[in-house]
Amino acid sequence: MSKKGKLIVITGPSAVGKDSIVSNYINKNGGKLMISATSRKPREGEENNKDYYFLTEKEFEDRIEKNLFLEYAKYNGNYYGTPKDKIDELLEKGENVFLIIEVVGALNVKKLINDSILIFILPPSHEELERRIRTRAIDSEEDIIRRLEIAKKEIAQKDKFDHILVNEKIEDVVKEIENILN
Ligand code: 5GP
Repeated sequence: MSKKGKLIVITGPSAVGKDSIVSNYINKNGGKLMISATSRKPREGEENNKDYYFLTEKEFEDRIEKNLFLEYAKYNGNYYGTPKDKIDELLEKGENVFLIIEVVGALNVKKLINDSILIFILPPSHEELERRIRTRAIDSEEDIIRRLEIAKKEIAQKDKFDHILVNEKIEDVVKEIENILN
């Protein structure tokens, strides 16, 4: 029997560096990142079907009704969800599959798939997280403030996760993930 791949759920506050960590890991070690759907508007430079499947709220709700998501959650007023097609097939093929999602969705995945591996990424400090959110400079001031508030609530839940890693340097976090998965 072929060895099944692992489902790895990467979570942690906005702008903590989840995407860079996962793309770095996958470039080095292989694996597949699942593209999420969202009802948030694309930011400048973001591409449909690459960064996200950008949907209207109505389209998203239709897909919820059709049970097309493994999990979904509302974050900062918008829907975000993981389409469930493809995941099983990839795991069966032995691929490691990565999800980059917020805390509520991550905990829901754990309930559904008990052997998924949940990794929480922490910023080195609250000040550093605020700096990272602000240097993205793509969100409005209200958006930044709401994301920082959500971050505090998310960080308060870190102990529910299988592993907690501090993103001081991306390469170090990637190495720690390699140790967890090997
Ligand atoms: P952003 O608006 O910054 O792209 O994403 C906001 C938050 O939603 C981030 O924490 C991101 O990881 C999370 N997110 C992205 N895709 C999904 C998803 O499919 N499901 C859930 N629950 N959260 C997601």
